[in-house]
Amino acid sequence: MQQRLSPNETNPAGLAFSTGPMNSDRLIQGMAEGGDFRIIAAQTTNTVETARQLLDLAPVATDALGRALTGSLLLARLLDKNVKHQYVTLRFEGNGPLGVIIAEANVAGSARGFVANPVPQDVGLDVSRAIGRGLLTVVRGTPPAGKPYTSQITLEGGGVAQDLTRYLAGSEQIASAVLLGVLNRRDGVAAAGGIVVQGFPHASPESIDRIERRIREAPPLSTLLDKMRIEDVVATVFHGCQYKQIDSSFNVPLSYSCSCSRERALAPLALFSPDELREMIDQGGSEVVCQFCGRKYRFSGEDLLALHANPDA
Ligand SMILES: [Zn+2]
Repeated sequence: MQQRLSPNETNPAGLAFSTGPMNSDRLIQGMAEGGDFRIIAAQTTNTVETARQLLDLAPVATDALGRALTGSLLLARLLDKNVKHQYVTLRFEGNGPLGVIIAEANVAGSARGFVANPVPQDVGLDVSRAIGRGLLTVVRGTPPAGKPYTSQITLEGGGVAQDLTRYLAGSEQIASAVLLGVLNRRDGVAAAGGIVVQGFPHASPESIDRIERRIREAPPLSTLLDKMRIEDVVATVFHGCQYKQIDSSFNVPLSYSCSCSRERALAPLALFSPDELREMIDQGGSEVVCQFCGRKYRFSGEDLLALHANPDA
């Protein structure tokens, strides 16, 4: 039994998993090779564990969504063009048993996600086969104004980190490497996080060589994350590459949080036909469940009647 990292608050052993500043989820930033490389890294253990609990995810679904959530948080920061409200949405539509997976994050450090089939029958699948082959759609935008920027690449079954690396190289013209890891234990997520390395055009061939070798030789990220905090994980992976972390006052706290509201939950109901609305009203109302956080919004017959009377509201 691995009780040390139990998310169960009634378990006194769970105290070891304190949520103090050093254990809180956070995004850190740094440079390597004298400024030839930018490095962004995230510790997302609590964020992924929250997703697992809210969405009742099986381990392979936790692994897949955890990587996607971590990736979306890293990309939201990496692709930041000084826009305060930028968000990034990753939509994986593969032919694997998990079905559609959505991970969404903003530059302020909030993330939320969704897995169409959170408990696949074959529990022994690895992440890439559980997602399968298909399409990855990446949307980034800045609500409420600004047209979202959308691009698509094929999912080739190599895993979330590889897909995101290909997306960055193709659609964003960014030479990068993405490393992601989630470590599941019987009672929850023991560790999760990721690193994205961006090479600048002025990087020397020697420094590219050193960084590539360090990435190739790095042990699986989840095993490092299990043993040390994210600052030390990055320093370990890039030892000998003049890695320097930017002042921790630039860290971004990360969390799983959903932006749903009663108003937003009601809006899609306006799309039902008057007959369908009438039927819901006759049945005494309707309930809408948020697919990202499981929150339930209950609408009475009167709420729906108002919608019925004023369909443009
Ligand atoms: Zn929600």
